[in-house]
Amino acid sequence: MAGQRQHGDQAVRLPELLQADLDARIKATGHQNAYFPLLIPQSFLEREAEHVEGFAPEFFTVTHAGGKELDEPLVVRPTSETVIGEMMAKWISSHRDLPLLLNQWANVLRWELRPRMFLRTSEFLWQEGHTAHATADDAIAETMLALGFYQDVAAGVAALATVPGEKTPRERFAGAERTFTIEGMMRDGRALQAGTSHFMGTNFAKAFGITYTGESGAAELCHTTSWGMSTRMIGGVIMTHGDDKGLVLPPALAPYQVVVVPIGRGDQAEATMAAATELAARLARAGIRAHVDSRPQLSPGFKFNDWEMRGVPIRLELGPRDLAAGTALMSKRLNYQQPQSTKEAISLEAAPDLLIAELAAFQAMLAQRAIDFRDEHTAVVDSWPEFTAAVASGWALALHCGEQACEDEIKAETTATPRCIPLDGEPLEGTCVRCGKPSAYGKRIIFARAY
Ligand SMILES: [Zn+2]
Repeated sequence: MAGQRQHGDQAVRLPELLQADLDARIKATGHQNAYFPLLIPQSFLEREAEHVEGFAPEFFTVTHAGGKELDEPLVVRPTSETVIGEMMAKWISSHRDLPLLLNQWANVLRWELRPRMFLRTSEFLWQEGHTAHATADDAIAETMLALGFYQDVAAGVAALATVPGEKTPRERFAGAERTFTIEGMMRDGRALQAGTSHFMGTNFAKAFGITYTGESGAAELCHTTSWGMSTRMIGGVIMTHGDDKGLVLPPALAPYQVVVVPIGRGDQAEATMAAATELAARLARAGIRAHVDSRPQLSPGFKFNDWEMRGVPIRLELGPRDLAAGTALMSKRLNYQQPQSTKEAISLEAAPDLLIAELAAFQAMLAQRAIDFRDEHTAVVDSWPEFTAAVASGWALALHCGEQACEDEIKAETTATPRCIPLDGEPLEGTCVRCGKPSAYGKRIIFARAY
């Protein structure tokens, strides 16, 4: 496609913006980035029984190296609790070594039979936080701190409509005591698990001998956590905001927040190009990621379409008449279907301040649109017919008995699964929406079809 070489950087930079934002939050709260080996001895993974049982079906296993069969197979990390647990046991000896707060940016591999770009792929990039604490309370506080990072990134940066909550026992991370999640609603009504945070209790500490000498002099088990957010978030951005025209990017993640398209022929082209370049430089000095589309061989119409498809929040057209009037014609990404009249002439002089405000408004509008969509597609249900209707197009908030056989029946009939027990749900007792037995969680939980 024309122009791809010049502008293909966009696909690379969105993940960088996302990573930079999350990395800053992780570091600001005292966590240190580290890196651990990709290949993990299989015996490490077998030390925590639930962990290996949960992950074994997804293992990629290396059995040969250097042309010979290995004495012990190596597993390509599906997650790194075990290899990091092995090292934590060596590094922690006294309560003064706690808390130990580590984070790793890495790729992991989990076999996927039916991959789906960005949402489910065998290899994905993520960060995995791994921490050890003296007490369960400290570890729970850490688990919630990390969940807060994810909720803030999802809502405040990616403009997703996410609900923080706790996973039901079956949906817990393999080896965890408690798993917390943020679940986002995509525009097709499905749920996307967009980040998870796990309280491991002392399960991994027992398996790997992660202990510390308490003030009394006795050896105590540590309480550990792990938490991860992956490139799945990019899929969440595409599927929450995108439309038939292509991407719609929240300004906080848009590689180019404003694109200036100079228009004109001959001498006029030179003048508008010079003015566009100067404008972009002024915008950049104001902290706006601005770009001039200087491709000479392409028509303005092609360029408008191209940037709309790429999801650029705001486009400015700068023609000879605009320039003479000291203005540019502003067009916002979601107005493409509207007639010409929705383009708005803005003063070149005031452009930086005005665009900072416009970008903030665009970010807020996308976030509100996602919340409105989620709320419109979430139904509080008390009967089975209401439940099936709700999960056909969105989420159902229902009471459930908590029994696995009942979950299985619901899944078989509707493909919906329990997504989370919302943290802020109202206390409520009653009977299961499916089987009529007493409800288990003390509040309604979210059921949905999920990615
Ligand atoms: Zn039930």
